[in-house]
Amino acid sequence: MFRDSYEVIVIGGGHAGCEAALAASRIGRRTLLLNLNMDNTALMPCNPAIGGPAKGHLVREISALGGEQARATDASTLMVRWLNTSKGVAVRALRAQCDIKAYTAYYSGLLERQENLNIHQDEAIELLLDGERISGVLTRHGSTYEARAVVLCSGVYGGGVVHVGGVSFPSGPMGQTPANAFFESLVSLGLKTGRMRTDTSPRLNLDTIDLSETKKQYSEDMPLAFDIWGEKRVYDKDYACFFSHTTPETHSILVASMHRSPLVTGEVDAEGPRYCPSIEDKFLRFPDRDVHPIVFEPLARAGGTKEVYIQNFSTSLPYDAQIALINSLPGCKNAKIMKPGYGIEYVYIEPDQLSPTLESKIIEGFFCAGQVNGTSGYEEAAAQGLLAGINAALSAAGEEQIVLSRSDGYLGVLVDDLTTKSTSEPYRMFTSRCEHRLLMRYDNADRRLSPIGRRVGLIGDARWEALTRKWEREDAEIERLSNTRLAASDEINKILFEAGAEPIYEHTLLAAMLRRKNVTYEMIEALLPPEKKLYEDEAFHVETELRYAGYIEKEKRTASRMESMDNIFIPEQFDYDGVKGMRSESRQKLLRFQPRSLGQALRISGVTPADVQLLWVAIKMSRPSAR
Ligand SMILES: Cc1cc2nc3c(=O)[nH]c(=O)nc-3n(C[C@H](O)[C@H](O)[C@H](O)COP(=O)(O)OP(=O)(O)OC[C@H]3O[C@@H](n4cnc5c(N)ncnc54)[C@H](O)[C@@H]3O)c2cc1C
Repeated sequence: MFRDSYEVIVIGGGHAGCEAALAASRIGRRTLLLNLNMDNTALMPCNPAIGGPAKGHLVREISALGGEQARATDASTLMVRWLNTSKGVAVRALRAQCDIKAYTAYYSGLLERQENLNIHQDEAIELLLDGERISGVLTRHGSTYEARAVVLCSGVYGGGVVHVGGVSFPSGPMGQTPANAFFESLVSLGLKTGRMRTDTSPRLNLDTIDLSETKKQYSEDMPLAFDIWGEKRVYDKDYACFFSHTTPETHSILVASMHRSPLVTGEVDAEGPRYCPSIEDKFLRFPDRDVHPIVFEPLARAGGTKEVYIQNFSTSLPYDAQIALINSLPGCKNAKIMKPGYGIEYVYIEPDQLSPTLESKIIEGFFCAGQVNGTSGYEEAAAQGLLAGINAALSAAGEEQIVLSRSDGYLGVLVDDLTTKSTSEPYRMFTSRCEHRLLMRYDNADRRLSPIGRRVGLIGDARWEALTRKWEREDAEIERLSNTRLAASDEINKILFEAGAEPIYEHTLLAAMLRRKNVTYEMIEALLPPEKKLYEDEAFHVETELRYAGYIEKEKRTASRMESMDNIFIPEQFDYDGVKGMRSESRQKLLRFQPRSLGQALRISGVTPADVQLLWVAIKMSRPSAR
């Protein structure tokens, strides 16, 4: 039997696994990435898009922490757009359509070239333990790999069953093989698992669709990049997405076919993604709406693959019904399906069994990240993979792990939600999940997270220096605008009047002017230019910090109040039964979720503030010094 030894093992080469393996090896740990099939590295089994509100924030945070998803996106972008521009600075975000082959190739190339990292095709079938700590992994080929930390990033492959109408068979996504043995090993170790499902749309051949009646959307005209250090590009107009809609005929076919849907026959009863419903789900939820918007999204530029994904049209109806549905769409009378749509059921690990470092509460050195934790989305997976990879590397070296708070970033919110509330349906990130949105903007992700990336060794000298110079330029400009006054004059007031802004009658601070309606940083910069012109991103940051200074301060105060609760730790194995007067629902929830801090306890649904108050008193009483 082959034996080898590593410091960190990552199981799975999807979005979470790639980030975890790159992070652990870059931090300096000897790392092994095991993947069932190396040709599915960073596979996008659904929409070929990265970003959008909240998800785009996560991608920016990955970049800030020293991960790769932003760069992989920039390297494979077909078109990119700003979303939510009319809704305020906190929620605006980038979204890119990607060439899925280029995206995969980017990650594969990185993994192959990465120092300290060995990538290997094999299936992990058993987790090996030494007492309560992991000691390694056994594989399908009979090999034993020892390690001090293992990160499981196995996505939807565990217990995967594909459904196309009444036809069901064990499978991973897109014809990949499923991987069940490892989950059986986890269940035997006492981990609780559940089942979820998700669906995808049929893929069409571009040459068989008439797109003349659709509305085309191209990339923005401005240069853009996801990566904080990335070179911004304006993308050519040789790629577009095509906006269309279903028809009343589509609706009639759905009416006639619904009884054959696995959702209706009861073949599938696992919970699907509420916010990314299949066309059948939409039909069941909104029976009166007979037209739904859809988007045709080619997976490559002209000359690449002809495959087209249809956004908002995922389905697990029988194949013949899928053909009829497709042919009912505008311009699709003769469309040919290259890959049928399907639903997939899979096993996930109930994420409240993890601590906020993403390490198992019961098996030391065992981390889980990505869809296996009940999330949905490439961005949610990659962000967790990065955090788990960092913490596995720290754990393997016996160093203190990283916990991100809810005010550190969307990643902090994601992990806190999963580990304190768990989830019974695929968890997707939204801006509404985050209570400190104004503090967690796209433009300040570097300030929030890059110092952590630097500390753990994921941000090299050149990038760090570029970043510190950027911060110096921004801070100097904020300082200048906060200390420089503009004299009132007819000339100035004419400019303000033309912009629709109120006139000034006395010397006015530039920062105060920036808070006025219709006054922009661009105007201020033209009136009294800084010594050195700021880059566009820097100007945006300065403008946002000054325009919303009052609100930002208020949110910082609220966040810091919450953080002080997060810093009151609950002793391990705390005796909740000994807390007098606590409601039994609170007691049961606290016993189940085992929160680390009073802040976490407060966020568990069903635990009341009054019970947390009682808990606080009991913790103080339990400390020897408090007696
Ligand atoms: C059909 C479908 C539709 C989806 N629709 C959407 C959507 O509409 N919107 C959205 O945001 N997201 C959607 N997703 C989710 C998105 O694709 C996933 O969230 C994302 O890919 C998860 O990344 P991951 O790294 O956690 O897992 P995956 O990308 O699934 O990767 C798992 C990896 O683990 C490997 N592996 C598994 N078990 C083992 C083992 N025992 N040993 C070795 N290797 C193993 C696999 O080979 C694979 O490389 C969909 C997914 C599917 C399957």
